[in-house]
Amino acid sequence: MPWKPADDLAQSVALEVLLHGPLARVELARRLDLAPATLTRISAELIDVGLLVETPQLAERRAGRPSIPLDVVAEAHYFLGIKLTGDAVMAAVTNLRAGVVNYFELALSSTEPETVVERIAAAAGRAGGSYPIDAIGIGLGGVVAGDGSVSSAPFLGWTDVPLARLVQQATGIPAFAANDLTAFMEAQHWFGLGAGHDNFAALTLGVGVGFGCVANGRLLANDDSGVGLVGHWPLDPLGPMCNRGHRGCAESMLTVPAILRDISTALDRPVDWTEFLSLVRAGQPAATGIATSSGRALGRLIAAVANLVAPSFVVVGGEGVDLAAVSARAVDEGIREQRDPRASTVKVELTSGTNESWCRGAAVIALQGYVLDRRRVASHRPALSSIDT
Ligand SMILES: [Zn+2]
Repeated sequence: MPWKPADDLAQSVALEVLLHGPLARVELARRLDLAPATLTRISAELIDVGLLVETPQLAERRAGRPSIPLDVVAEAHYFLGIKLTGDAVMAAVTNLRAGVVNYFELALSSTEPETVVERIAAAAGRAGGSYPIDAIGIGLGGVVAGDGSVSSAPFLGWTDVPLARLVQQATGIPAFAANDLTAFMEAQHWFGLGAGHDNFAALTLGVGVGFGCVANGRLLANDDSGVGLVGHWPLDPLGPMCNRGHRGCAESMLTVPAILRDISTALDRPVDWTEFLSLVRAGQPAATGIATSSGRALGRLIAAVANLVAPSFVVVGGEGVDLAAVSARAVDEGIREQRDPRASTVKVELTSGTNESWCRGAAVIALQGYVLDRRRVASHRPALSSIDT
């Protein structure tokens, strides 16, 4: 059934259960500051229209009266999340709780918009064979406007491509597009390490270095999101040079290509990421040297983020996240160098950096577009919406 709560109050109740359920009515009333009678009426309506169900198996007996929690039906809605790279369309199908139920990849023979849209439509067709898809979300490295058009994506050679509209026309399914870091942040905020937290930041390590921040419950974003502005943050005056001539900037110290370039030069042969990590774990001197200086640089960047935006914790993700795991001591040293000893300890959380996790982020963009009904009410935002789009 469609996600159509009767009004803003019903929408708040449904979203609270989606994000934090299962929840007992008394707990829901407390969280949303509603009178018990109001909540009883709204929850009865939401159960009637099939958006919420009672979960008697989770009932707790308090003072003799059973309290039956309310929950959403996770399998009532499915979303397709697409991550675009220069040579592949990666796709994950998630349920209403952003749980991945299917994942596959399709090769991309060209980055022409028509070809990319055709491959996304093929992915939607394949996913739709097993799951009724309610909305499609696409994440990519680039600047994406609120209406899902790609202002610029250098890795695809795109300027001003109305991607979401083209995909929607090709598939007949509502489509949304966002910068991939925005998608990552939304997934963390709604269903990941940031769930239930109003202030946290994240750094992603991969082909580039990404930074995102949720402050007071909202993702900080503007028209420059997607440019990758933290990429050339200075970290080490003695570090290697980036292609813009900075010595020891984030891009030259922390990206997977930069680290692989350095280790491959040191060993005079090509080394891939998996082998680099193995060499570090085995104590190979050149690899541990690079991991230590990059780890310390990562610590300095984490400390800078913590000092500047005061998050409750800093999430580190992306396909290069294992750098933080294999150089944990150097990361700690880098943080300590840049952090006033009187300040609280910086809490760091590592998360998966797989392609599947990027696709899951894109699926959450679809899920949010769908449940917040972003197309229909572009100027109106329910209380729990978390980003300006
Ligand atoms: Zn640089």
